[in-house]
Amino acid sequence: MIQHLATTGMTRHILDKYQLRARKKFGQNFLVSEEVVEGILDAAGITKEDTVLEIGPGIGTMTTYLSQAADRVVSIEIDRSLEPVLAETLADCSNVRIIWEDVLKVDLRALYAELFPEEADGAPNGIDGESEGAAVPANRPRLKVVANLPYYVTTPIIMELLKEKDLFESVTLMVQKEVAERICAAAGSREFGAITLAVQYYAKPEIAMAVPAHCFFPRPKVDSSVLHLTAHEKPPVQTDEAFLFALIRASFNQRRKTLVNGLTHGMSAEGIRLGREQVTGALEAMGLSPDVRGEKLSLEEFASLAELLRGQI
Ligand code: SAM
Repeated sequence: MIQHLATTGMTRHILDKYQLRARKKFGQNFLVSEEVVEGILDAAGITKEDTVLEIGPGIGTMTTYLSQAADRVVSIEIDRSLEPVLAETLADCSNVRIIWEDVLKVDLRALYAELFPEEADGAPNGIDGESEGAAVPANRPRLKVVANLPYYVTTPIIMELLKEKDLFESVTLMVQKEVAERICAAAGSREFGAITLAVQYYAKPEIAMAVPAHCFFPRPKVDSSVLHLTAHEKPPVQTDEAFLFALIRASFNQRRKTLVNGLTHGMSAEGIRLGREQVTGALEAMGLSPDVRGEKLSLEEFASLAELLRGQI
């Protein structure tokens, strides 16, 4: 029988039974709201056709629901002390496989190839043999990612998932409220930053649900939001990706600097020399003031700036 664990009472009971405590080191705040679990499932749009990649199952609270909603679930968990817990709570979830590893050390492309081997008719999955490194073709199935992320690794995990975006149809994440707002921010707002541009380059972000701190045990100091990312089939701007990202990093390295100062100093750390006049000239050509700051430029404007500057080096 599947146990529903999304209450403080059940979570405490399971932790006590196995003499465990929520480990701060792994950002463990377990969900204790069935309404939120259902909100995440809704936002992720999980169906019986789906293979779900769950990051950080914890004591299995979301996992049991995912197991019922999806075709199969692969959950990656770093904390091996949860092994006896998951053996109990997922005992009746035969379609769940646990990988005991740090998600940042898992080769997601190899995992995809294992989950979706080349079809009997030889249709390539874009991964094995000669096609190694190639993107997964559009007609192949993709994973849906669901994760209640530990706050300390939110950004690296999001960036890792976006780098491999052709493996995923969508990514539904519980993140700190402020991080969700930053990712969805419009150019010119206080929250706008490098992570906003990076995520918006790869995916369309939406805040699906606000989640107050009391929905977790133990209760964190911050509120959360469920963020839903739908991967773009192709980026919304066409420019050299590596140059664009170097430009974005340099522009936001020292946030209070003007773009001209940020780029003339910051791009040399990226191995690219840019003179003051080159940057000022490019900004003028775009109708922007030489005093403009990075947070004022949209992704489209960064792409135009990248095109103008790349033509000069
Ligand atoms: N999904 C559960 C829930 O909603 O109740 C647990 C969420 S808890 C915020 C985060 C989970 O991610 C914990 O189980 C933690 O051990 C696991 N975790 C932390 N860092 C991880 C990493 N780098 N790789 C995989 N799992 C990780």
